[in-house]
Amino acid sequence: MDSTSKIKILILDDDTFMLKLLSRMLAKLGYATITTCDNGSDALQKVDHADTCPDLILLDLNMPDMDGIEFVRYLVDRKYHGKLILVSGEDERMLKTAEKLVHAHKIPMLGYLHKPVNPDKLSEILLGWEADGLAHPLSVNDKSYSADDIKSAIANQELVNYYQPKVSVATGEVIGVETLVRWHHPKDGLIMPDRFIDIAEKNHLIDDLTRSVLTQAIVQAGEWHRSGQTLRVSINVTMDNLASLDFQDMVVNLVHENNLPPQKIVIEITESQVMGPDARIPLEILTRLRLKRFHLSIDDFGTGHSSLAQLRDIPFNELKIDQSFVHRAYSDDTLRVIYDASLAMGKQLGMDIVAEGVEDRNDWELLRQTECDMAQGDFISKPLLPDDLPHWMEEWQSRVRTELRDDSPAS
Ligand code: C2E
Ligand code: MG
Ligand code: MG
Repeated sequence: MDSTSKIKILILDDDTFMLKLLSRMLAKLGYATITTCDNGSDALQKVDHADTCPDLILLDLNMPDMDGIEFVRYLVDRKYHGKLILVSGEDERMLKTAEKLVHAHKIPMLGYLHKPVNPDKLSEILLGWEADGLAHPLSVNDKSYSADDIKSAIANQELVNYYQPKVSVATGEVIGVETLVRWHHPKDGLIMPDRFIDIAEKNHLIDDLTRSVLTQAIVQAGEWHRSGQTLRVSINVTMDNLASLDFQDMVVNLVHENNLPPQKIVIEITESQVMGPDARIPLEILTRLRLKRFHLSIDDFGTGHSSLAQLRDIPFNELKIDQSFVHRAYSDDTLRVIYDASLAMGKQLGMDIVAEGVEDRNDWELLRQTECDMAQGDFISKPLLPDDLPHWMEEWQSRVRTELRDDSPAS
C-alpha cells in the first residue's frame, strides 16, 4: 500500500457527515493523506499550495455557496493537474451532463458516485485508476506534442495504420475494416490519434497526415484484394482535407495504381475543427467521388461534428452511429431513444447503418433485435495490425458458429 498511501486526496462537500463518511471509506481502502473541506474557497487554498495540492478531488456538485461546476472552473484557471470524482444526489442524466462539462475542461475524471455512496463503487473506481497507472501524476499519458513533433513523425513514417473489423450483424460476415492511425513513437510507445489529429488539423498538417494514411491503406487494400479478401477499407477524412480539388485526384490515382474497384474504399467523413470558407468544394469532391462509385460514410453521427445538414447535403451510403449512443443503449433510456432515431432515419434514407463502440454481448444483442446492419467495436475486435487479421478471422468465425448465431449452442 506504499504508493496508495502517498496519494493526496481532498474531499469537498458542504455536508460534514459526508466528509466523515467518505474519509472513513478512503482510510479503509488504504489512503492515508486525506484533507476535507466544507466549502470551495478553503479547497481552492489547498489547491494553490504545492504541498497541499491534491492528486485527486472528490467533489460534491450541490453546495450552497460555490457549487461544484463553479469550483471546476476555478480549477481550470489554476491549471489543476490532478483527477476528479463527482459525488452527488442528482439523477444519472444530471451527473452525466456534469461529467461532460468536466471533460470539456480537460480535467481527467475517474467517474461519478451517487449519494448515498456505495463503498464498493468507490473502491472499483480507485482500483481502476491505479491499475491504469494513472495514479502516477506525470506519466507519458499527460505529455503533449508540438506541430514539429508531428511533422517529423509523418516524415519518418512513424504513423502506422491499424484496422478494426466491421461485421454484418445478421450473418457475422466480415464486411470491411476501418483504418485507424497510431503513432509508433520511438520513445513514448504507442500514441493514439486523439493526441495528435487535432494538433495536425490546427497546424495545416492534416493533408500530409491523410496522404500517409490513405497511401498505406490503399496499398494494403490492394494486397487484400489480390489475395481474394473482399474487404471494404474505410478511411477517416476530415472536411478540412476536402478544401482542395487535389484530394480527389490523389484518391482516384491511388486506387487506379493499386487496381482496386472504388467500391472497396469507404471515405468516412467528420466535420473538422476548422471549416474552410467555401463549403461548395467539399460538396463537389464528395459528389464526384460518389459518381466514381466510392462509398461515403457519415462518421460519429449524432455528435456535434456530424449534423443533419450534412445528411441533407451529401450523398452518403453509410451512417455510423457514434459509440456514445451505442454502448449501454440497451439499459439507458436516453441513449436508446437517440440510437433508435438514428437507425430509423438512416434506414429511411436507404443507408447502411454501422453501430460503433459495440463493447459487450448486451450491445450486440440490441443490434440484432433492432436489425442494425453492421457492428464495430471491441466486442468484435480491437484495431489490429494487418498481420494479425487472418488469425482473428479464424477465431471470429468460430465465435460466430459457437456463440453468436441464432442456432448456435450458447444462444
Ligand atoms: P472514429 O473514426 O469514430 O473511430 C472509432 C474509434 O473508436 C477508434 O478510436 C476506435 O479504436 C474506438 N473504438 C472502437 N471500438 C471501440 C469500443 O468498443 N469501445 C470504445 N470505447 N472505443 C472503441 P481511435 O483509434 O482512438 O480513433 C479516434 C478517432 O481519431 C477516430 O474516431 C477518428 O475520428 C480519428 N482518427 C483515427 N484515425 C484517423 C485518420 O487516419 N485520419 C483522421 N482524420 N482521423 C483519424
Ligand atoms: Mg471513423
Ligand atoms: Mg466514429
